[in-house]
Amino acid sequence: MSQEGLALAVERMRARGMGPEAVTVFEHYYRQLEEGAQGTIPEDTIEPLADPQALGEVRVSDEDARRALRQTAVIKLNGGLGTSMGMSGAKSALEVKDGLTFLDIIAQQVLSLREQWDVELPLILMNSFRTSEQSLEILGRYPTLPVDGLPLDFIQSAEPKLLADSLRPVDWPEDPELEWCPPGHGDVYVSLVTSGVLDSLLAKGIRYAFISNSDNLGATCDPDVAAWMVEHGLPFVAEVCTRTKSDRKGGHLATRTSDGRLILRDTAMVAEGEERFFGDIKRHSTFNANNIWVDLVVLRERMAEREGFLGLPIIVNRKTVDPADPASPEVVQLESAMGAAIEVFEGSEALLVPRTRFRPVKTTNDLLVVRSDYFVLDESYHLVAVGEGPEPFVDLDSAYRLVQGFEKRFPHGVPSMVECTSLRVIGDPVFGRNVRCVGDVLVDGLRRVHDNAVLEGPVEAPAEPPRTEQRPAADFRTVDQHLRAILSTLEPAPTTTVPLTEALGLAVSRDVRSRVSLPPFDNSSMDGYAVRAASLAGAGGGAGGADGSGVPLRLVGEVAAGEDPSFVVGPGEAARIMTGAPIPEGADAVIAVEDTDGSADGSVLCRASVPPGRYIRPRGEDVSEGSVIVSAGDVVNPRTIALLAACGHATVEVHRRPHVVILSTGAELVPPGKALQPGQIHDSNSSMLWAEAVSAGASAEVRGVVGDTDAELLAALDAVVAEADVVITSGGVSMGAYDVVKSALAGQGVDFVKVAMQPGKPQGFGYLAAPDGRRVPIFALPGNPVSSFVSFEVFVRPALRRLMRLSPEKRRVRTATLTAGLRSYLGRRQFGRAVVTRNSEGALMCTPVAGQGSHFVADLSRANALFIVPEDTADLVAGERVDVILLDD
Ligand code: AMP
Ligand code: MG
Repeated sequence: MSQEGLALAVERMRARGMGPEAVTVFEHYYRQLEEGAQGTIPEDTIEPLADPQALGEVRVSDEDARRALRQTAVIKLNGGLGTSMGMSGAKSALEVKDGLTFLDIIAQQVLSLREQWDVELPLILMNSFRTSEQSLEILGRYPTLPVDGLPLDFIQSAEPKLLADSLRPVDWPEDPELEWCPPGHGDVYVSLVTSGVLDSLLAKGIRYAFISNSDNLGATCDPDVAAWMVEHGLPFVAEVCTRTKSDRKGGHLATRTSDGRLILRDTAMVAEGEERFFGDIKRHSTFNANNIWVDLVVLRERMAEREGFLGLPIIVNRKTVDPADPASPEVVQLESAMGAAIEVFEGSEALLVPRTRFRPVKTTNDLLVVRSDYFVLDESYHLVAVGEGPEPFVDLDSAYRLVQGFEKRFPHGVPSMVECTSLRVIGDPVFGRNVRCVGDVLVDGLRRVHDNAVLEGPVEAPAEPPRTEQRPAADFRTVDQHLRAILSTLEPAPTTTVPLTEALGLAVSRDVRSRVSLPPFDNSSMDGYAVRAASLAGAGGGAGGADGSGVPLRLVGEVAAGEDPSFVVGPGEAARIMTGAPIPEGADAVIAVEDTDGSADGSVLCRASVPPGRYIRPRGEDVSEGSVIVSAGDVVNPRTIALLAACGHATVEVHRRPHVVILSTGAELVPPGKALQPGQIHDSNSSMLWAEAVSAGASAEVRGVVGDTDAELLAALDAVVAEADVVITSGGVSMGAYDVVKSALAGQGVDFVKVAMQPGKPQGFGYLAAPDGRRVPIFALPGNPVSSFVSFEVFVRPALRRLMRLSPEKRRVRTATLTAGLRSYLGRRQFGRAVVTRNSEGALMCTPVAGQGSHFVADLSRANALFIVPEDTADLVAGERVDVILLDD
C-alpha cells in the first residue's frame, strides 16, 4: 500500500522536474517514516553541550580575517512566505527597518563587508519557486551585487505532502501548490549540489559558506568566525546563543553519547514525555541560532560518499494540507533541519555567539521592536541596539498579528521604544505620531493613541492621555459652547390641548388620569357559558380534560358584547356568553365552548370542571379609574394614544409643535420648477430645511426667497415674525459683500459667531421681537446646502426638540469603522458625510462620500450618516473608528 504511495510521490516529483538527488533524499525519508521513525532523540542518548568556545574570546588578526572572508560566500535561506504574518509573498520583501526590506539590508550588509575588507563575498539566496522572482527584483537594486560565474539564487526542492493515514501524496485541486512543501532547510545541502552552485563556488576558490535565515538581521558574515574556522580547520560550525526563559522552544545542540558527535535536537524531535528536559534551560543552556558555517570541500566529500544525501535525521511535521484550514485533510511533511548536518561532520564545533547575532522577525511583535528606535542600522547596516535596558518585550493584540493590521494601526511609524521595557496592547487602537513608551506600558481599551502621547504604566480608557488641547482661535466658539448658548436661552413651547390624532411625537405637559376602569366591568375572555364553578365540581378533569361523563346545566339566557344581562345564573344553571360580554350576576366562571356540547337552548352538557374566575377579565384589572396613565414629559407614541383613548380621552395637553418659518436669502436663487437665467441657481435650502423641521416634529412653512438687501430682509422678517415660533434663514452670514442677514441683523438681538466646525463655521442665533411681545428665536444658517444641513442637524434639531420638551439628543451616536483614511482640520470638529453599512459580521462600516465640499448636494443625498472627526485629530486611517450619526434612524 505505502509502496504505492512512495511510487506515486516519486512520480510527481519527477514530473515537477525534481532532480534524482532530491528524489533519493525523499525516498530515504519515506522509508524511515514507514519504518516508524518518528525522528525523536531521547534524553538518555545525549549529553548537554559542554562549554562551547565563546566568540568574544576569539582573537583574529585582520590579515587572517581578510584571508578567510576571501574564501567565504553568504547563503541566505529565503524560501519563507511569511504566511503566519499574513503575507502572501516572500517574507524578506517586508519593509523591516528605515524603509528597507530584509533583502535590502542583507545586500547592504554584504556590500559594506566587501568594501571594508576588499573581498568578493558572494551573496546567494536559496529561494522557493514562490519567492525567487520578487526577491531577485529587490536585489536588482544593487547592480554591483552579482559576482562573476555565480547566480544570485538557486531554487530549493519541493516534495509532495503525504496524507497522514495512507502516506500517499495528497490531492488538493482547489490549490494544487498546497500539495507541495519544501523539505525543510536541511534541503540546502542537496539543492546546493543539484543546482551546481556548490561546484561553481569551489571553482571560484570559495571554500566556506555562511548559511543563515534571511529573516535574521543579526546574522552577518562575521569575519572573526570565518577566521576561527579556517585557523582550526573546522568542517562545520554551528552558532549557539545562551538560552533565556523565553527561548524554551528552539532546538539545541547536544553530544550523542554513542559516538561523541554533536547533534541537533529540534522541537519536533523531542520524545514524548521529555518536554521537561527540553525546556530545562539550566540543563540545555544554549540554543541553535541556525547560523552555520560549512566547509564546502568537506561537504562535497560527504555528499559524494553518501551518494548525494547526507542522511540527516528526519523531522515529521504534521499539518493540514491547507494550513489556514484546520478542517482540511491531515498531512505529514518530511523535513530535515539544516543544523542537523552537524552530526555528519566529524570535528564540528559549536560557537557561543552574543544574542545580537540572533534577531529573527517571526511575529509583528518582533517587527515592532526592530522597526523602533530601540535599534539603529549602523554604517555597515548592522542592527545595533541603542536602548540601554534589555530588549523590550512586546505583546500586541490579535488585530496587529497580520502585517496589514499592524501597518494600519501604526500609520505614522511605531512608537519610540528606547526607554521601554515592555509594551502590551489590548484592543486595537491606532497609534498617532511621535508616541513614546516608557517603562512597562499596558494600553487597554483605547480607541486611539494620540499624537505625541507618552505612554507609561497602565493606560486605560477613559484615562486616555489628555488630548492635546486644540483650543479654537480666540474669536471662535466650540460646537458645544454654541449649542449650550442656544439651548440655555430657549423657553419651552406653550402648551395646548390637541386631539389624539395630532399628538404623536409631542411631550405631554401634565399628568393624565384615567376616566374609567379598564376593563370597565367583569367580562368574558372566551366564547362559552357563564356558570357557577361549583356547579361543575364533578365534571371531570380540568378544562378540556373531559372524562366523557359530563354535567348538564340548564340554560337561563344569552349575553353578547355590548348587552347588559338582567338575569341571574344560579346553581345548576348556565348562560351562553360571547367574548367581551359582561358576566351575568351569580356566575363566577366561564367554561369554553370547546369543553361543552355547544348547545344553544334547553341545557348544555359540560365536560370539564372550571375553577372560579376562569376566563373572566375582572373590572379594573388593567387600569383603575382615576390612576395616572400618562405622566407629564412622556412623549406620545401610538401605544400612548391607544391607552388615552381606552381611558376615555379624546384630547391631550402637550407642548405645542413650534411653527418654523423658513426664508432663503440670495439674489441668485429661484424656486425649483422655474427656468434658470444666467447666474441663477435653484433654491434647495428652503425645501430641505422644511423637511428637516418637519422630521424634527415641528410644523414648518417655506416663505421663499428674499433678495440681498437689508430692507427686503427686514420687511420679510416683519411679515413672518407674528406667526412664527422659530425663524430659520439660510445664506448671507459670512464675509461676502452681500451678506445680508449679517448686515441687517447684527447688533439687533442676533449674534453672528464663528464656530469651530467644518462645515458650518459662520452661525447666527438670536431673538426677534414679535408684535405680541414674544421673543422669537432665529437661526441664521450658512448658505451652502451642506453647511445648512449640518447646521440644522447640530444646532436647530436639538433646539426644536428642547422647545418641545423632548431630549435634545434624539439621534444616536454610534461608532463605525472607516473604510478609507481622511484628513481633517485641526481645531475644528468635522462633520463629514458618509455611507454607513453593516458588513457580513454585522459591524458598522463608514465610507465617506467622495465629495466632501459644502456644495455637493448629490453626495449629501447619497450619504446616510454624518461622521465626526474631533477637533484634535488631523487625520484618520482606514480601520480607525469614528463616531457616526445615522440620519435615517
Ligand atoms: P452665501 O452664504 O449667501 O454666500 O451662500 C453660500 C453659497 O450657498 C452660495 O454659493 C449660494 O449660492 C449658495 N446658497 C445660498 N442659499 C442657497 C439656497 N437656498 N439653495 C441653494 N444654494 C444656496
Ligand atoms: Mg447669498
